[in-house]
Amino acid sequence: MFDNLSLKLDRAFKTLKGQGRITEVNVATTVKEIRRALIDADVNFKVAKEVTDTIKEKALGQQVLIAVSPGQLLTKIVSEELTELMGGTKSEIEIKGDPAVILISGLQGSGKTTFSGKLASMLKKQNRHVLLTACDIYRPAAIDQLKVLGEQIGVEVYAEPENKDALDIAKNAIKFAKANNKKIVIVDTAGRLAIDEEMMQEITALKNGLNPSETLFVVDSMTGQDAVNTAKTFNERLNFDGVVLTKLDGDTRGGAALSIKTVVNKPIKFISTGEKMEAIDIFHPDRMAQRILG
Ligand code: GDP
Repeated sequence: MFDNLSLKLDRAFKTLKGQGRITEVNVATTVKEIRRALIDADVNFKVAKEVTDTIKEKALGQQVLIAVSPGQLLTKIVSEELTELMGGTKSEIEIKGDPAVILISGLQGSGKTTFSGKLASMLKKQNRHVLLTACDIYRPAAIDQLKVLGEQIGVEVYAEPENKDALDIAKNAIKFAKANNKKIVIVDTAGRLAIDEEMMQEITALKNGLNPSETLFVVDSMTGQDAVNTAKTFNERLNFDGVVLTKLDGDTRGGAALSIKTVVNKPIKFISTGEKMEAIDIFHPDRMAQRILG
């Protein structure tokens, strides 16, 4: 994960090695390399510029701290700024209502169904009574996929394969949850390969009709800048509460993780790092920054 970025940042800090103190010149060189590393990692240009300007300003402002070497000082500042860039602190999901409804949105193939299973499994381990709901009315295979996952993790799945009204299915699932002592309903929805108006209307209708306490947007981190643009469009229509970054186990360059919070101003709440049900983590910006810096 982020191997290239880590390598390039490490190289940027090496420029300062052996330098006794921070100067306008050596900081400018290092910061330029950091900016290039971020842009190469698919970080939005504006975001990369803003963050490196801050790093430069802080480094020059703290040059009086002669107790640490310039390299150490820069590493510390970059770590703080990357943490801030990714949201600062971790963000919890809101579970409120009887039952609480969690709506899962995103493009087809982003990892919604897999994540729905993972989240259900995580909540079940916290002794919560969860119901999974299959609202993909276009792909019967998606219903089967959720059922297989549900069986695997021991969570019941609500589905109506003949019903072509997603909102109606979800409302029936909520009734079912109330009657069967389920406290959290996770609604897996239909996606498309690309954004289209019909999908947007459908997911917006689900949000308005269900009033979920949490709406999550799932996005494939391997898609880089596209991930950020998709997030922007979904957020404009849906005003979601948080982002789930998937496929971080792949050869991702990291741009999505580093740009999304700034561009849509919504926190990343979970990361997914594999196909197995256990491959889910609550997102900690500080830990991710540490990981990037190696
Ligand atoms: P959906 O169409 O949004 O519901 O996406 P799916 O949940 O069906 O996932 C699409 C594909 O990506 C499936 O083959 C999943 O097994 C795979 N997948 C989902 N999340 C991850 C992940 O974090 N890492 C990897 N490597 N594969 C994933």
